[in-house]
Amino acid sequence: MGAKSLNNLGRQRAAVPTVIGRCKVYGDPIRTGDDTVWLTDPMGLSHRECKAKADELAQMKGGA
Ligand SMILES: [Zn+2]
Repeated sequence: MGAKSLNNLGRQRAAVPTVIGRCKVYGDPIRTGDDTVWLTDPMGLSHRECKAKADELAQMKGGA
């Protein structure tokens, strides 16, 4: 442990995006930089893409 290992740690932390939560729709991890939307039902954060997919499925179910 010295200046070199500290430097490695810093680089690793920058390269791996931080998980900030879990997608309400599919339960996959949400990371910093992901495109997200805030849902009200169920209340929570989800990926914009997952929400769109869920909406599509709900519409198909309702329309059938
Ligand atoms: Zn998701």
